[in-house]
Parts: sequence; structure tokens; C-alpha cells
Amino acid sequence: MKIYIDGNYYDPKDATVSVFDHGLLYGDGIFEGIRIYHGNIFKLREHLIRLYESATALMLDIGMSIDSLEAAVRDTVRINNRANGYIRLVVTRGEGTLGVDPSSCKKACIIIITGDIQLYPQENYTLGISLITSSYRRIPVDCFDVRVKSLNYLNNVLAKIEARQAGCQESIMLNNSGHVAECTGDNIFIVKNGKLLTPAPYEGALNGITRQTVLELAESLGISTAETILTRFDLYTADECFLTGTGAEIIPAVNIDKRSIGKGSPGPVTLKIADSFLSYVESVS
Ligand code: PMP
Repeated sequence: MKIYIDGNYYDPKDATVSVFDHGLLYGDGIFEGIRIYHGNIFKLREHLIRLYESATALMLDIGMSIDSLEAAVRDTVRINNRANGYIRLVVTRGEGTLGVDPSSCKKACIIIITGDIQLYPQENYTLGISLITSSYRRIPVDCFDVRVKSLNYLNNVLAKIEARQAGCQESIMLNNSGHVAECTGDNIFIVKNGKLLTPAPYEGALNGITRQTVLELAESLGISTAETILTRFDLYTADECFLTGTGAEIIPAVNIDKRSIGKGSPGPVTLKIADSFLSYVESVS
């Protein structure tokens, strides 16, 4: 495996960054998780646009054009001979001094890693997963806009630990109004009376690339959709629930805070969307 760092390729044991990198010292950086299906990098442009928007919000100069970064990602995939797998693209503020002030960081550090990903065992896709509501809230938008996909995932990490300790696979994170925002690494959807509903980005959800794809696929299948406000009551009384993300793809959730959702097994709309997502991935690959 060859890892790209700032224009050079390294073996994993030699792929290192400075201990003075502000990404390490302060979580000062951004990232994307991207999938490769049958040699095609899925929605690469969309991921890069999100990355550059995150950089703009953080006043982080990536130091190369979006086209050059796209070429670097494609080269890394080619050099690693990857037809299927996962890409982790990380941009940190780079090396600086020990102080918070990022003006000492003269050049961003760009890292591209390719690898495998398996977030959930196969049986979770057929039987569904269990969720709990986390006691950790999503970072409020008035503190930090979570549409920035930053290297700060600490409350998500704590929420994930909470899920595991409760014997569940994922945590639902609420915003400060008690509305459902998303999960620790996935967006959340419910189906109610045939309609597909998901929290709006202003509720504290990342504008997921998979989420967006699902919204478009649902419309093309004639399923009406809405980006809206959801509370735990909406989740508990939903007909179906599923999560979306680059790593997880579409994963059914059948139990929330010990309440069985719908019939307690993946529902027909979820299965239809999951099927249509897989066909879509095949069709663009
Ligand atoms: N929410 C969070 C907090 C995430 O980290 C992710 C990505 N892992 C998602 C949602 C899903 O986004 P995407 O579909 O773009 O992977």
C-alpha cells in the first residue's frame, strides 16, 4: 500500500506527519471518506466540493486546485491498484508552533490513504441495527457549523462509545433543541405513511453525499421526501428507519431506545431504496 503525503508516496510505516501539525495538536483540519466501486470513484467531485467548502469556512488554504487534488486522488487509487475500497482524504492546517494561532502554519498537509472498509457485519444489513439516543448532543450550529467535515469528532466518538456500552450499533445525536440531527457517522431517515423524512442540514446534520443520493433516488422512484424537523417521537412511531453514509451505505435500523420500529425488521421502502442505491452504484461504475 502506498500513501500519498504532499505529492509523494510512502509505505505505511514511513507515512508520518509532524508532531507539530495543527491537525494533531488542535484537530485543525478536514477530511472526506470516499468509496471506489468497480474502479469508479463514487461522487468524487461532490466530495471535493464539500472538502473545499469546509476549507473555505475554516480559512484553510488547501494550496492546490480542486482539479489537481482530483488528479492526485485518482493517481493514488491507480498506484494502489484499487478497484474497490475506500479513500480517506485528509487536509490538515500543517506544521506550526505549539500555539493555537494558525498563522505559523505555512502550508497545508494533504494525505490520501486507500484501504478497505467494513463498518457493519453483513447480518446487520439483513436484520437491521439497534440505536440509542446519545446523551451527547450534536455541536450546536451557533458554536460551529457541522457542515464543515472537520477532524473534531470527539462528541461523536463519545456517542459511539455510549452506543457500544448499551449493546447498540449506533447513537442518535440530538441538537440543542432536542430535535434529531444525525448519527455519529451517518445520516438518519424515517419512513412514515410512505413518505421519506430526514433532518434538514440546519438541524445539525452533515449534508451527506449518500443522503443526497438517496433523496434523489427516492424522488425518481416516486417516493415523496422532505428535509424537516424530527423528534424522538417521530422516530419511535416511524414505519421504518435507516441510516446512510459512505461507509455504511444504506443500513436498516429496527430498534430505537428499546422500541421496535415498524414490524421490527427492515421495511419495504428501506429495502427498495437500498436496492436502488446498489443498482445506481453499479450503473455509474
Ligand atoms: N454524518 C456524519 C457525522 C458523518 O461523519 C458522515 C460521514 N461518515 C455522514 C453523516 C454521512 O455522510 P456521507 O454520506 O457523505 O458519507
